[in-house]
Amino acid sequence: MIKRSFTLALILLLLFLLGGCSTQPTTTANKAVNGRLDLTQNDLQNEVIPLDGDWAFYWNQLLEPANLDQATLSGYVPFPSFWNKYQIDGKDIPGPGYATYQLTFTVSENQILALKLPKVRTAYQLWVNGEPIASAGTLGQTRDTMVPQYLPQVVSFDVLAGDNDVVLQMSNFHMSSGGLLNSILLGSEAQLLAIRYHGLAYELFLFGALMMMGVYHLALFVFRRKDRAPLYFGLFCILVAIRTLLIGESFLFFAVPDLNFAVARKLQTLTYYLGVPLIILFFRAILPNYFHIKLTKLVLVLGLLYTTFVIFAPTNVYSAINPVYQIWTIFLILYLFVMLLKIALHKEKNSTLIILGGLALIATSFIDIITLSPWINDSWPPLLRMIFQGDANSSTGQLIFAALYSLLLAKTFSESLEYRIVMGEKLAEMNNHLDELVLQRTKDLTVANHKVEQQNLELEQINQELQRLSLHDPLTGLWNRRKYKETIVPEWLRCLTHQKPVSLLFLDVDYFKNYNDLYGHVAGDECLIKIGETIKASLTRPSDMAVRYGGEEFVVLLAETGKKDAQKIAELLLKQIDDLAIPHEGSAVKDCITVSIGVTTLLPDPHSCHEQLVEIADKALYHAKSNGRNQVVYLDQ
Ligand code: GH3
Ligand code: MG
Ligand code: MG
Repeated sequence: MIKRSFTLALILLLLFLLGGCSTQPTTTANKAVNGRLDLTQNDLQNEVIPLDGDWAFYWNQLLEPANLDQATLSGYVPFPSFWNKYQIDGKDIPGPGYATYQLTFTVSENQILALKLPKVRTAYQLWVNGEPIASAGTLGQTRDTMVPQYLPQVVSFDVLAGDNDVVLQMSNFHMSSGGLLNSILLGSEAQLLAIRYHGLAYELFLFGALMMMGVYHLALFVFRRKDRAPLYFGLFCILVAIRTLLIGESFLFFAVPDLNFAVARKLQTLTYYLGVPLIILFFRAILPNYFHIKLTKLVLVLGLLYTTFVIFAPTNVYSAINPVYQIWTIFLILYLFVMLLKIALHKEKNSTLIILGGLALIATSFIDIITLSPWINDSWPPLLRMIFQGDANSSTGQLIFAALYSLLLAKTFSESLEYRIVMGEKLAEMNNHLDELVLQRTKDLTVANHKVEQQNLELEQINQELQRLSLHDPLTGLWNRRKYKETIVPEWLRCLTHQKPVSLLFLDVDYFKNYNDLYGHVAGDECLIKIGETIKASLTRPSDMAVRYGGEEFVVLLAETGKKDAQKIAELLLKQIDDLAIPHEGSAVKDCITVSIGVTTLLPDPHSCHEQLVEIADKALYHAKSNGRNQVVYLDQ
C-alpha cells in the first residue's frame, strides 16, 4: 500500500513539474551588446528569441523615439531586470521612478513578427520603429499621474530588413521594485500565442484543479467539523487557485482588463500572507506533536496582522514591509523542513505522502520568494537564475502538495471505510452468532432449569419420605413415638383451651417374647403388623392417633374423647385382636394372641401436664397385666 502510493506520488510529481516547466522557451540566442542585437542569422519564423542583454537606459526620462537623440544616456544595463539593481554613477536607483529602455535589433529580411510582453512594473508604452504598438496602464512622472496595470500580451508588427528600433517607456510608483522580471520574446505571432496559451491553459488547469480540491475539502469540513485539517487545506487550495490567476500569464487581467491594480495586487499579497498560517495550521492539525502551539499561534497572529495591513495600507507601503514577511516565511520553511525530517525519522504513519507534498511546497515556495526578491542578480550562476526565473513555480508546488494530500486523504478515507465495512461484517457475524449463542444458552438453561426442578421435586419427595420415615414406624406404618411427642403438646393445649377431655390407651401384647421364641421373629413382626392394622382400622376421627410406642407396645391418643368412649374403643380393640385368632401356644392366657390395655382420661387444666397421660395409662396397663392380662383397666388419676 505504502509502496503503491509512493510510486503514484512520484508519477504525479514528475507530471506536474514537466507540465509547469515547459512554458519556458528553449532557444539560446545572441545577447544584446550596447543596445544592439544581431539576429540576421536567426530563422525568426521558427525561433523564439528573448530580447535579453544590455539595453540602452535613460533614468528619470520618458522619451519618445524621436527625442532619444537629444537625451543623455544613463548607461547600458542588463535586461530583463528590476532597475533597482542598477547603479548610475555608483548610486543605487530607487524602485519608484520612470525610465526609457532602448534596443536596436537587426534582421535580414522584411517580415511580420510579434513580441510577447510579460508583466511590467507597473505601466509601459512600447514603440517599434517610431510607432506605439503596445501599452499597459498610463505612464506618469508621479504616483498620482500614472495608472498602474499588469497586462501580459502578444502584439504583432512589421519588421524591416536591417535595423529595427525598440523603445520601452516605463514608470513605477506602486511597487518597491520597478522594471520587469521576465524576458520580452520575439518570434512569429503563432509561436508566441502558443506559448501564451500554453501558459494560460496550464494556469487555468491549476486553477480548476486547486479550486475543485479546495471546495471538496471545505465540503468535507462542513460535514465533519471535528477535523480542522480539511478546512485549512481547502482554504489554502482556494487561495492558491486565486493566486494562480494573478501570476504568470495572469488570466484575471486578461479576463477583466479594467481590474483595479491595487485590488489585484492586494489580492495576490493576501493569498501569500494568509497562505503561510493556513499551511502551518494544516500541518499542526494533522501532526499536532510536531508543530508547537505557540509558534502556530504566532504564525497566525503575524499572518492576520499583515493581512490587515495589506487591506488598509497603500501598495507601496506594504511592499516595503514585505521582505520582513519573506524572511519570516523562509524561517518557517526551514522549520517545516526540519519537522518533515523529524517525521521521516520517526516513520509516522502515511508520512511518505506528507513529506513529499511538504517538500514540493517548500521547494517551490522557496524558489518563488527568491525569484520575487531583489537579491537575485546577474552574478548568480545561469542555472540558478534559470530555476529562479520561472513564475508560476509555487502554484505548481502547491498543486503537487494538494494532490499528494488529497491522495493521502483518499487513502485514509478508503481505509477507514474498508475498516468500517469489515467491522460491520464482523459485527453482523457476531450478532448472528450471538443469536445462535443466546438460543443455545436458553436451551441449555431450560434443560438445566428442568433438571433442577426435577431434582427439587425429587428432593422434596425425598424430604417428604424422610419426614414420613422420621415420624412413622417402618414396620406397621403407624406413627412413631417421636410423632406422638410432637403431637401431644398442641393437642393437649387445644383440649385445655376448649376444656375437652383427652384419653389415652396403652396397649401391650401378652407373652410376646414366648411367641417369638415359638414362631420366630419374622412371624412376630407379621403379628405386630396385623395388630397395627387392626388398631388403625378401629380409629374413626382424624384427630385419633395410633402410635407404635415401643417393641410390642402401642399407644392410642384420643383427643376430645371422654372416659366412656375410650373404654369402648379399648374393649373393641381387645375383641378385634382376639378375633384375629393368631395362634399362640406359649401364652398363659389363651391359645391365641391377646393384648392388655391400660386406659385413662384427663381433663387438661393449667396445673396438669400431658406426661401424666402415659404415666397413668402405663399404671393402668400394669394393673391389667397383674390382673391376668387380656383385659382393659381404666384408671383415673
Ligand atoms: P408380658 O408378658 O406381660 O407382656 O410382659 P412384657 O411385655 O414385659 O414381655 P413380653 O413377653 O410381651 O415380651 C416383650 C418382648 O417382645 C421383647 C421382645 O423379645 C419382643 N419384641 C419386642 N419388639 C418386637 C418386635 O418389633 N418384633 C418382634 N418379633 N418381637 C419383638
Ligand atoms: Mg411389653
Ligand atoms: Mg408384652
